[in-house]
Amino acid sequence: MTHPCQHAREAAFNRQQGLCFCCQQPMWRSDPEVFARQLGITKRQARLFQRTAEHIVRQRDHGGHSPSNIVATCLACNHAREIGKKRSLTFEKYCAEMRNAIARGKYHSLKRWSRCSEYGPPRRQQNRLGPDR
Ligand SMILES: [Zn+2]
Repeated sequence: MTHPCQHAREAAFNRQQGLCFCCQQPMWRSDPEVFARQLGITKRQARLFQRTAEHIVRQRDHGGHSPSNIVATCLACNHAREIGKKRSLTFEKYCAEMRNAIARGKYHSLKRWSRCSEYGPPRRQQNRLGPDR
């Protein structure tokens, strides 16, 4: 069973080096638990970072399944695009707004959620030697 988007989605994910096209945050494709651990977020939060295929031109607006029309976005960005007034934005504009909001620590911002210094605010060293890095 192969969805028409599957190949393009895979290609987009690699092209974007695993980062969401919209919010530029990392995504996972098979294991939310490992992802949650690596990024220092909860499993519930990690679910929002599942990789999805997003059609730049929506299918209902006759956008096709060609690779040039498909990017990889996280689940949260994929869904938020269909909510409220965001629906009327162009994809570019939507992504710009999303990136802005994420940078300010809104929505599913790792800056706000993550316990990893790479994303979150600098924390005091934990006196526990974790298994990861
Ligand atoms: Zn995203």
